[in-house]
Amino acid sequence: MAKLLNAKQTTLKDRVAVSGVGVHSGKPVEMILHPADANTGIVFLRVDREKKTEFEIKGDYSSVIDTRLCTIVGHPEKGMVATIEHLMAALRGYGVDNVVVEIDGDEVPVMDGSARAYIDAIDQVGLKELPYSRRYIRVLKPVRVQNGDSVGELLPYEGQRFDVTIAFESEAIGVQHFDGEMTPDVFKREISLARTFGFMSDVERLWAAGYALGSSLENSVVIDNDQKIVNPDGLRYTDEFVRHKTLDAVGDLSLAGAPLLAHYRSYKGGHKLNFNMLEALFADASNWEWVEAVPAFRKSARVGTSVDTATVRVVLGPETN
Ligand SMILES: [Zn+2]
Repeated sequence: MAKLLNAKQTTLKDRVAVSGVGVHSGKPVEMILHPADANTGIVFLRVDREKKTEFEIKGDYSSVIDTRLCTIVGHPEKGMVATIEHLMAALRGYGVDNVVVEIDGDEVPVMDGSARAYIDAIDQVGLKELPYSRRYIRVLKPVRVQNGDSVGELLPYEGQRFDVTIAFESEAIGVQHFDGEMTPDVFKREISLARTFGFMSDVERLWAAGYALGSSLENSVVIDNDQKIVNPDGLRYTDEFVRHKTLDAVGDLSLAGAPLLAHYRSYKGGHKLNFNMLEALFADASNWEWVEAVPAFRKSARVGTSVDTATVRVVLGPETN
């Protein structure tokens, strides 16, 4: 169980601000990530500075109100936050368990379309361990969902494995596959820089409908009608597209409310499939259980060396989440 070595809950050492524009609204937004107590999880604090109101939204799947263009949490009238997936991915991917995300607009700033700016913000202040064990949701049996030709599966696995396949007719993308254990290191190096992407024809249609108003070559990889990548600097990874889909999956599945001990396989997936996967998982209490990672520090026989091992023990039966 070497994968569970970082067994304590974490938060940020200090607060840190990130400002930018919303990809759909095109409006400026300021977001402040605040340290939070153990067992807070990720909570959005949607503040309206003009109306002097604020509304708390739990960053978990029970708060999701839309997954069509991006993942949106909240309440249509009281307050909502859209396009949370890349920030959620950075927090989960980097092992940040507890944060209050204060935000003064309806959308998380898109930054460069990847998770890099959030990772940089977290790196700027650093992480602090809290004196509480991290809790995991362990998948106990295979759970499968299918929407048309999109298929998702959560399989029992003692780690956090993401196994994502995309298949596009577009020659610029084609079939791509990513399969890896999602450690903070892997997330930062292999996933966090991958940008969102779209086709010129779709972008034009979204613009006409009043969406994607903030989208540009500064925050998306765009493919034109001739299957060429429009961005002058090209791609950041040769398979940037599947890496971005993996980033989205890390963010969406983090809405489980705790890290999943599972092997997640997705074929032609997206926000909706990821969300349906969580609904299917939690629809049956026998699909999963809470576990706590307990680090056991064991001195090895030789003086001066120690071996870290982590074991997992069952805490309680399934709770409602
Ligand atoms: Zn995305």
